[in-house]
Amino acid sequence: MEDIKTLNGIGSRRATLFEKKGIRSVEDLLYFFPRTHEDRTKFSNIAACVPSEYVCIRAKIFAPVKETRIKKNFTVYSVTIFDDSGAMNVVWYNNRFVKDAFRTGEECMFYGKIGFNRGKKELQNPVFEKGNSGRQIGRIVPVYPLTEGLTQKMVCSAMEQAIERTGRIAEYIPKEIRSRYEIAEINFAMRNIHFPESFENYEIARKRFVFEELLILQLAILNRREKNFGVRGVRFKNTKCITDFTSALPFELTSAQKRVLGEISADLESERPMNRLVQGDVGSGKTAVAAAAMYAAYKNGYQSAIMAPTEILANQHYETFLRFFKDMPVRIVLLTSSVTKKNDLYEAIESGDADIIIGTNAIIQEKVEFKNLGLAVTDEQHRFGVSQRACLVAKGENPNVLIMTATPIPRTLSLILYGDLDVSMIDELPPGRKPVSTYAVGENMRRRVYSFLDKHIKNGSQAYVVCPLIEESEKNDLANAKGIFDKLAAIFPQYNIGLVHGKMRAAEKDTIMRDFVDGKIDILVSTTVIEVGVNVPNSNIMIIENAERFGLSTLHQLRGRVGRGQDQAFCIMFVHSDNEITKKRMKIMCRSNDGFYISEEDLKLRGPGDFFGTRQHGLPELKIANLFCDMDILKSAQKAATEIESGEFSKNCDLSILRKKVDKLICDNIVLN
Ligand code: ADP
Ligand code: MG
Repeated sequence: MEDIKTLNGIGSRRATLFEKKGIRSVEDLLYFFPRTHEDRTKFSNIAACVPSEYVCIRAKIFAPVKETRIKKNFTVYSVTIFDDSGAMNVVWYNNRFVKDAFRTGEECMFYGKIGFNRGKKELQNPVFEKGNSGRQIGRIVPVYPLTEGLTQKMVCSAMEQAIERTGRIAEYIPKEIRSRYEIAEINFAMRNIHFPESFENYEIARKRFVFEELLILQLAILNRREKNFGVRGVRFKNTKCITDFTSALPFELTSAQKRVLGEISADLESERPMNRLVQGDVGSGKTAVAAAAMYAAYKNGYQSAIMAPTEILANQHYETFLRFFKDMPVRIVLLTSSVTKKNDLYEAIESGDADIIIGTNAIIQEKVEFKNLGLAVTDEQHRFGVSQRACLVAKGENPNVLIMTATPIPRTLSLILYGDLDVSMIDELPPGRKPVSTYAVGENMRRRVYSFLDKHIKNGSQAYVVCPLIEESEKNDLANAKGIFDKLAAIFPQYNIGLVHGKMRAAEKDTIMRDFVDGKIDILVSTTVIEVGVNVPNSNIMIIENAERFGLSTLHQLRGRVGRGQDQAFCIMFVHSDNEITKKRMKIMCRSNDGFYISEEDLKLRGPGDFFGTRQHGLPELKIANLFCDMDILKSAQKAATEIESGEFSKNCDLSILRKKVDKLICDNIVLN
């Protein structure tokens, strides 16, 4: 690959700037796509210009540039220009390069913003070019995402040179595929993605690169699926026993739970190891489903493990499982960093004495060896890195894998995000759940909110008060939650108030959480550490401070902590922002209790950039495709990928470069690897 320094004007200093954007080679540069384009094709005449608009003007210079020093470090340069319609002043601030740039009477092109000064229009700080064939004016100009020190001009000039060499890019999507999906040829597309002759051409070019990007990603995903396909793993001979387990539960499973369990059973009995993601809104009852599958493991003579992201949650699962498996000769163990007599536990796990292992990431330490892990469950998978998940799986020999998440991924997107997993959906809540009444309020309501709180706590309820991490800095995080804690302690001396925050030691946090679970604490002030999975049926009020700082999915998860008991639950969000988008987002929260709806709406408001910026899914960052807007292209790319894999295209379809690109993507990305 040609080094970017082979381009004129790029020495090692500029190369470093480009490198900050991940650009090392000319090819990298070509794939550095513009953020947007500016239409600078239409010229206005001077008389028709309107203040605050950006315009292109072609005009003549009336007189030499005037230099006016206003004060130290502030000099204004101005020149009068004219066309058939009138005359206007052009000004630049502190730009001494313009001083000798013009000759009287010569024709120039300008692009800039029209301002207003002493009752007159003027053109402020425009770019300008001479002659007729413009590079920055008179055409559609790309706007690149920059970094400090890198200018549009530098990128454009480098890009123009790179494009001039584009005659040399070899096409790697064969014609047969391109004509079936109406995809433009690479060299045309490359020119027009950067310097389009028209916006129609730009769209054609963009479609090509979106398709290409998604096709490569989809091929990589299929490739991985393929790899897993032939794998033989742990197989459970018989899972009918699951009904023994479920009929002994203190409740009847919802039909969604039953359906998902059916899907799991089929996986468990097949030769291919299960690789299933179960999505279900908070409170939909994922734990019982996991427990049933783990029961099947036990009955088939295998160990199973469930890994939870926090100690509190692991403890809670442990207690739940003890109840579920009461009166059964199953040995259940809890392994977290704070349990004692770890060596005994390790031994029980290794010897096969322990049937069901519940824990935090303590269970993936090297010291922990299983006798025969047949089912590995990860709870609240978004809290775990991909590698942690892989570590757990590696504790067995191709065990069945079950992943549970409450982070709702819109249906339309789960295919690409979890293309290599089978997805099940628990899309129903247990009966009798009342939606949490949700309100967004301003600071002026604080007293009323507190008297509401008082009334409910007097009646025996418990409440959460959640504060955001104001900054990453631990001090502020603490100060904020601590401030609220102090305030509440002063207002409600008669109640027990607890405080947990992210910087506490796990044992400390645990004690306080335990006291809350046991009802010894009335109001629990916390940072978002309580977000995941904890179940305290008696708590039915949640107050969220600075709710505008949270993503809607997080707010929804937080809210899911309440409303687990019989009583009507409330979620009150303090909002300190008048921002229109914030208002819309809060409205969505107040209106809906449906996690999928909320995440879809959030996606619309925030755009997928943010949504997928979280890297939870671990997939490569997309350069140009927008999974939300490019759904149609995604579908054709998925179709094309399937056709390619099933050998539908003719033999003389050369896919070798495309395959190399797929391999590179797989190589660079651990999820696909
Ligand atoms: P999540 O999906 O958020 O992990 P849990 O598994 O913690 O939800 O379940 C939430 C609560 O609902 C638990 O108290 C659980 O016992 C209860 N539950 C689960 N399934 C049912 C059901 N079918 N009917 C009634 N209650 C249920
Ligand atoms: Mg859960």
